[in-house]
Amino acid sequence: MDTKKLGFNTKMVHAGAPKDMYGSAVTPIYQTSTFAFDSAQIGADRFAGRADGFIYTRIGNPTIRALEQNIAELENGADGVATASGMGAVTVVYMALLSQGAHLVSTGSVYGPSRGLIEKQFSRFGVQYSYVDTSDIENVRAAIRPNTKMVYLESPSNPAMLVTDIRAVSELAHQHGCPVVVDNTFASPCLQKPLDLGADIVFHSVTKFINGHADVVGGIIVAKDPAVCKQLRAMMVVLGCNMDPHQAFLVSRGVKTLSLRVERAQENAMKVARWLEAHPKVEWVRYVGLESHPQHELVKRQMTGFGSMISFELNGGYEAGRNLMDNVHLATLAVSLGGVETLIEHPASMTHASMSQADRLEAGITDGLVRYSVGIEDVEDLIADLEQAIAKV
Ligand SMILES: *Cc1c(COP(=O)(O)O)cnc(C)c1O
Repeated sequence: MDTKKLGFNTKMVHAGAPKDMYGSAVTPIYQTSTFAFDSAQIGADRFAGRADGFIYTRIGNPTIRALEQNIAELENGADGVATASGMGAVTVVYMALLSQGAHLVSTGSVYGPSRGLIEKQFSRFGVQYSYVDTSDIENVRAAIRPNTKMVYLESPSNPAMLVTDIRAVSELAHQHGCPVVVDNTFASPCLQKPLDLGADIVFHSVTKFINGHADVVGGIIVAKDPAVCKQLRAMMVVLGCNMDPHQAFLVSRGVKTLSLRVERAQENAMKVARWLEAHPKVEWVRYVGLESHPQHELVKRQMTGFGSMISFELNGGYEAGRNLMDNVHLATLAVSLGGVETLIEHPASMTHASMSQADRLEAGITDGLVRYSVGIEDVEDLIADLEQAIAKV
């Protein structure tokens, strides 16, 4: 069935699913490492790309393929490449696009390991970088050099919740011949479609919203241009960071309810954010759905919803933030995000502890900042949990 013209929710449920000989209602787990060729000719044709069909699971597998095609349709891209983790996706994108002497311009308040990979590893091979506040396009304009080969955006960014104008930055980058890559993990394709806004490549840690059940680590990359998709797949295959069929099966199950989960979680998030904003012990709240978010107008243009990630800070900075962690009971104290369960963490002492304080502050991560990923529980229970915890801090 051609699902390309159907609505987002219909694609979520049906896109990419192949028909098999048994009429399976869901794509089964093809738990096999390799695939038999009916003849030497067919084997040769598959290797040469003259015939469709699978060869070896690191290169491709029907269960993984179903997920890749599903997400590619949700992002309005040409094709998808699934990876073992979100960081696997980041690595494939960097390796495919950055060569020795290349320069990268990236959002400063980016997912920590995405930045660490460049600063600590790619720099060893002569890759240069500028981490800037991409929420102000003038910073991007000033950072682009003749050897800039990629503009890498994360919007909303983790955990500062800074928003970048993807359309405007894409136009600017393209004037300089630079492809634009967007980490769309925080928004999910349900709320933001970077390729429609002008970006060239979008990727996700499917560990988060797309799978949504905190039981899988995985990644996926989608590009607009089929030739770029091929280039990315070739890189994934030689790096060996393929997704596994069982992982793909679970993610395909998760994606079917993506918009239901996102809608419920963001409804909760709005109520939690407003409650926090009115609390006397709360210093500030950063949620893209609040009028107080400095880029609320841009968010309304660029996203179709506000999502469920909130950052806030209590009076009392670092100690208050850390203390809160030990007093919440319903929210799980854990890193990761985007699942059905509410998670809370303290970036300065946890996810972003490896960054220097100066780098953290430059990226908008103050010492007291608390990251709260709102789940699909009853919001009254979430608020009651925060209320008793904040009272003890
Ligand atoms: C979690 C995350 C990643 C990395 O994904 P993994 O699946 O943990 O490897 C990348 N970007 C963002 C924004 C993330 O939240």
